[in-house]
Amino acid sequence: MSKVEHYEVSDDKLVRKKQTCPKCGDGVFLAEHSNRVSCGKCGYTEFKKKEKPKKEKKVEEAPVPETGAPSLFDE
Ligand SMILES: [Zn+2]
Repeated sequence: MSKVEHYEVSDDKLVRKKQTCPKCGDGVFLAEHSNRVSCGKCGYTEFKKKEKPKKEKKVEEAPVPETGAPSLFDE
């Protein structure tokens, strides 16, 4: 149970943590812009991707009515 809590906390930290420059390495953080992040040292720019909730899959397909009755359309 505490494992789940710990995971959530670390995940939150990970999200809020500033990105480091992949070229300059750790210690050099990327400046955050509205739609991108850039390194002031080497000029590395990385465009942010639109955040898509991967976990929330919209399963709004045609609802299958559970009538309980046997199918009338036998193939
Ligand atoms: Zn850099």
